[in-house]
Amino acid sequence: MSQQKTYNIRCPQCQQDQDVQLYEAVNVQHSPELKQRLMANQLNTVTCGQCGLTFRVDKPLLYHDPAKRFMIYQIPVSGKSAEEGERQFTDSLGQLSSLMPKDIQSPDVSLVFSRTELVERIFLRDAGLNERIIEYIKYMIYTRNSAKVDAARKILLFDAEDSTPEALCFVVQDAESRKLEFVLQYDRKTYAALCETFDKDDQTPTLLELFPGPYISARRLVLKETSETDSAAPKPPRKRRPRET
Ligand SMILES: [Zn+2]
Repeated sequence: MSQQKTYNIRCPQCQQDQDVQLYEAVNVQHSPELKQRLMANQLNTVTCGQCGLTFRVDKPLLYHDPAKRFMIYQIPVSGKSAEEGERQFTDSLGQLSSLMPKDIQSPDVSLVFSRTELVERIFLRDAGLNERIIEYIKYMIYTRNSAKVDAARKILLFDAEDSTPEALCFVVQDAESRKLEFVLQYDRKTYAALCETFDKDDQTPTLLELFPGPYISARRLVLKETSETDSAAPKPPRKRRPRET
């Protein structure tokens, strides 16, 4: 079931404190209108009782689609690192299980840190795509086009709206200005080939080794590798990546 919780929130314009009801869990099978509100950026918005300003409040949010059998948990960690976010996720797993239906034993929960990532992940799962393969494709785009798509300054987002049966599309977002800059196309046949490569070829690192989770992010992996390369510390030998298809 969907659940709400009361938070005391300060209006960013007039500084008035007020108690507001925000969703902490949405079940989109029971309440499809909550999914519509989420996708329209209208979920957990508050209108200030004093000055009338409407603003969105980001609090931990569990998205649950029982029909498609997936859950995504958003922990807003603006300013904090992914490591801290993952620690917070582990700490909140106990609390999370109280929000889940009793009949679910060990649910598959993905972790995201922003509303943008949450919406992207919903589109991706709704399209039946594997989030680790999609992040792997992003990894290749980041590492092979680093001049154009520098992971330090650009964010790649799966673009469901522009994707076609032939091509998967990714939109490049500037990390600082949040502006969407241009769209990259990726052949869907390569996606299918990658699914097979990861299934069969045991010489390549597995997707689970590359993206152990719970936070699955190509950008994080690239930034981590870059900082390792920059430091002088000796590195263990790494297994080769799958060949280009
Ligand atoms: Zn106000």
